[in-house]
Amino acid sequence: MSPARISPLFGRDVRRIHCLGVGGMGVGPLAIYLAGMGYAVTGEDDGLGAEMATQLAIAGVKVAPLPAECDLVVHTSAVKPAHPAYAAAAARGVPLVRRGHLLAELATSRQLVAVCGSHGKTTTTALLITALRAAGFPAGYVLGGLLADGSPPAAAGTNPWLVAEIDESDGTIGHFSPEITVAVNLDWDHPDHYRTPQALGQAFAELFRRTRGTVLNFGQSSGFAGTIAAEDAAGMTLRLSASFTIPTARVRAVGQFNAANAVAALAAAQTMGVALTPDLLADFPGVRRRQAVLSTAGGVTVIEDYAHHPAEIRALLTSLRGRVGPAGRLWVVFQPHRPSRTAQFAPEFAAALALADRVHLMDVYSAGEAPVAGGTSADIARLNPGFTASPALEAFPAADLKPGDLLAFVGAGDIEHAARDWLSKRVGRVALNTPPATPSSHWDLWAAQLTAQVSPETKIRREEPLARKTTLRVGGAARVYVEPANAADLRATLRAAAAAAVPIFGLGRGSNLIVPDAGVDGVVIALAHPTWSRFEPRPDGSIWVGAGLRLKNLCGLAATAGLAGLEFLEGIPGSVGGALRMNAGAMGGWMFDVVEEVELMTWEGSQLRLPKTAMHVAYRHCAELHDALALGALLRVPARGEEGAARGPSALSISRQIDAYRQKRHESQPREPSAGCIFKNPPGSSAGRLIDLSGLKGERVGDAEVSAVHANFIVNRGEATSADVLELIRRVRARVRESQGVDLEPEVLLYGQAWKDVL
Ligand SMILES: Cc1cc2nc3c(=O)[nH]c(=O)nc-3n(C[C@H](O)[C@H](O)[C@H](O)COP(=O)(O)OP(=O)(O)OC[C@H]3O[C@@H](n4cnc5c(N)ncnc54)[C@H](O)[C@@H]3O)c2cc1C
Repeated sequence: MSPARISPLFGRDVRRIHCLGVGGMGVGPLAIYLAGMGYAVTGEDDGLGAEMATQLAIAGVKVAPLPAECDLVVHTSAVKPAHPAYAAAAARGVPLVRRGHLLAELATSRQLVAVCGSHGKTTTTALLITALRAAGFPAGYVLGGLLADGSPPAAAGTNPWLVAEIDESDGTIGHFSPEITVAVNLDWDHPDHYRTPQALGQAFAELFRRTRGTVLNFGQSSGFAGTIAAEDAAGMTLRLSASFTIPTARVRAVGQFNAANAVAALAAAQTMGVALTPDLLADFPGVRRRQAVLSTAGGVTVIEDYAHHPAEIRALLTSLRGRVGPAGRLWVVFQPHRPSRTAQFAPEFAAALALADRVHLMDVYSAGEAPVAGGTSADIARLNPGFTASPALEAFPAADLKPGDLLAFVGAGDIEHAARDWLSKRVGRVALNTPPATPSSHWDLWAAQLTAQVSPETKIRREEPLARKTTLRVGGAARVYVEPANAADLRATLRAAAAAAVPIFGLGRGSNLIVPDAGVDGVVIALAHPTWSRFEPRPDGSIWVGAGLRLKNLCGLAATAGLAGLEFLEGIPGSVGGALRMNAGAMGGWMFDVVEEVELMTWEGSQLRLPKTAMHVAYRHCAELHDALALGALLRVPARGEEGAARGPSALSISRQIDAYRQKRHESQPREPSAGCIFKNPPGSSAGRLIDLSGLKGERVGDAEVSAVHANFIVNRGEATSADVLELIRRVRARVRESQGVDLEPEVLLYGQAWKDVL
């Protein structure tokens, strides 16, 4: 973070700012900019996506409700006074300000380059930021979107310049007085705010008048121009007009629309005093949701785009037409954005969408607006009998898509999630090309950020293979793997994960786990550092044990200390933490029979001690450890043997008992790698017996086999994959249901997926 550069805002001393709608592309980047300037920033959102959450966490923006101490609340225009978070701030008397107004206020202490216009301003701003970075020109910036390479959407910068995208949608444009204004184009939009095209034109004209230095208006001739000299799949070369100091420029983007945006960005950079070179845009990463290819599986190209105005849709579909081969067809799923815009432009939407061969309309995304007469998807669909419309994608007639076709998911609302859900159901998650749910650069950034917060003793690894950390030995890698060295580091890990919406997985000895072949999209936390393996007998006969302690060692240490009553745990190849989570049991005893108290840390980082009486435990289940990690437990064994390391009679009898149990296991359980019992025993029955009665012993998928020794075990004969094991589990369940009429329920845990989605 850069040194604090806090100046008074609205004439007052403001240090703590809370952001409403921090998941959005307007407020999120502004929050990151504020944090970079040294403000203490918190924020909340009703629907915070993983990528923005990661960016916020990296920037140090804490996702939390309105804090007790707060000087200012900034909100997106979509959050109205009736919203509970808005109402809460207003009730407390904290001043509230709209995003555009605060950005304008912040810009008064800098030289602002305002990028505005109806279409393409985010891409133009992103191109300008890319050019400035490539030229080593450390301007601050606030983008209205996310860069596709995971780099931050905002930065404080270290020179006087600030590049920002100015949103005209809510009238806050009237607060800005830029040094340079870049107007990419102008089309009437936001009819809820600008009743006529003239009203919008007037707002821009006033901005131009308030501009202190140069107005680069690409709606008219600005002197800066460029044409595409060459274009291939990797990008284009622009031939630039004489106003530029360079004759050509290479741009990693294609199409007329992007050429115009690149010309505007280079013109702005040159006007700011940057020495242009032809390669400043050669590594442009692109902006998320701008013609992003999601899949090419089965020869069908699936893209997503943010277009939400008729002019944008027309430009997009014209450009996509060029990408569809002669035999291919262009299909569009469109989610209109805002009822007011839909009502105002329904005929224009229908005309622009008619450029596609087939059109399906999802329900309008309201963006916080109330319904408006004529502002529904049906109002567009009515204008073209070829269009279909339904609230969800299930009704989309996708079955006849064929190789060579291009399908575009278009809109600025939450269609990106619908598109991904639809795709993962259709082509399967692994077949998705790009982008993965969270690009690897995000995991790199998150892991790097975490590394900076914890002690050097804490291990943090990216793409750590998990198969060898489990007893079944199948599955892929953890995106991030952490072995915290102490409670503070564990807390920092959990909080960083919560802030970035990174899923958390606890790992013990991996003896009751199946890891999917694709690995685990989250952070896997193992209490493998010695600090978590304590064994501390107390004078009153109880024992404090760390969650990382192996059950085998627990039994051995207890026997040595002459403490009887834990022998039943001896052959369970897990840790204390895993045994607590699973309420592991054997030989007639359950883990919670000997537990008095559990210490745990919740996913939010709170450390608690809960007596057994306050916990909800059942067969292979402990509710309190679903969203928490056990750190340790106070055990009280029913009978107390003689203390001392010397092997007195009672130590000897404990050892004998352990040996007897060991022998019993030896005879009844397979030796090959396994995950223990796959299914829970149905009430009054034994899963192993039902599987055996169904004739399944020896049943095999790949190298996964139903054990001939104990039918409730699936063993890995060498090269089994997670997919083999899951297929075998499905087969066993189906056969047992068929022949015994019983639905077996898995006991073994599956990382990152719900059994109901897999079985
Ligand atoms: C050969 C064999 C024999 C077995 N015999 C038995 C048996 O007789 N009885 C029996 O009950 N089980 C048995 N099991 C299953 C398994 O050993 C137990 O369920 C054990 O308790 C799992 O502990 P673990 O440390 O390996 O947990 P893992 O498999 O690593 O994890 C299991 C679950 O516990 C969670 N977890 C891990 N650590 C913590 C923590 N510190 N805090 C909160 N949650 C945590 C994980 O997130 C996961 O959800 C057997 C397994 C094998 C391979």
